[in-house]
Amino acid sequence: MVADPLYHVSQKDLYQDLKRLATILLLAIALSYAKTSPYVLVLGIAQDGGMPHAGCMKSCCKDLWKKPEKHLKVSAIAIIDPETKQSWMIDATPDFPAQHQIVTKEYQSELKGIFLTHGHIGHYTGLIHLGREVMGASSIPVYAMPEMKSFLQNNGPWEQLVSLNNIAIQELKNGEAVKLTSGLSITPFLVPHRDEYSETVGYRIDGPEKTLIFIPDIDKWSKWKKDIRDEVINVDYALLDGSFYANGEIPNRDMSAIPHPFVTETMDLFNSTSTTDKSKIYFIHLNHTNPALKENSDAFKEVNEQGYHITYEGQKFEL
Ligand SMILES: [Zn+2]
Ligand SMILES: [Zn+2]
Ligand SMILES: [Zn+2]
Repeated sequence: MVADPLYHVSQKDLYQDLKRLATILLLAIALSYAKTSPYVLVLGIAQDGGMPHAGCMKSCCKDLWKKPEKHLKVSAIAIIDPETKQSWMIDATPDFPAQHQIVTKEYQSELKGIFLTHGHIGHYTGLIHLGREVMGASSIPVYAMPEMKSFLQNNGPWEQLVSLNNIAIQELKNGEAVKLTSGLSITPFLVPHRDEYSETVGYRIDGPEKTLIFIPDIDKWSKWKKDIRDEVINVDYALLDGSFYANGEIPNRDMSAIPHPFVTETMDLFNSTSTTDKSKIYFIHLNHTNPALKENSDAFKEVNEQGYHITYEGQKFEL
């Protein structure tokens, strides 16, 4: 047989073709990896009242009233899986409309559920937007612990969300994982807090590569039967309650009635742990009075110099 000259390929051409093919393959692998890695997105870092805080004309908030672009949203995070284009929010805050918009439109994902930590106003009242007055949502899964579930089922206006099937409550069990996708799961764990309306949980999120814990609200670490230092050793990131920087921050109020681990107390507790473990800690849920919210403050510098971080809106943690 005589070879068709059209199909004659020189060794040099073959080498070039193979090189191109290898480049394309490598690019495809890199792209698919970038696409498949889920992450946690920070939607807000402020305590329940946001920032500026209603009625506050002190130096923390005074200048912010006329600068809406500098307002801080209430503490919440989202888990986003770019591969399946699905997302889950942890907590439904008073800033739910903006946070929902970020998750579903900016990050182009379908909201598959909302996990609630507890019954204080910064953590669940955003659910009102799912009702007939606003979105008229259809059976959005809302994951809640037993007392939180019963609170929503038995009190207006939340019970209407249940009776009209705007939300479909899924009961959580302490320490029991909920599988989100094949490589992603979330587990609630009880923490001590002023449990006026419900129990309070933190969440552990396990991704294909990394693990994150989220504890936006907790009373003093000493009230917890677990040692937060052990918990941090076992994860890659820890987003922890940083409500107040130090004692005396709210002058005319008894701060023991609103117990939280002060940022300074948490830093003292971790004082002798490794630099690696300290660097896993990101403070979140900061009250408007917390000086560490301002990047030019001594408090902010101290947190960073000691090897910890303050979370910021839009921050991502690869899982
Ligand atoms: Zn809170
Ligand atoms: Zn203020
Ligand atoms: Zn709370």
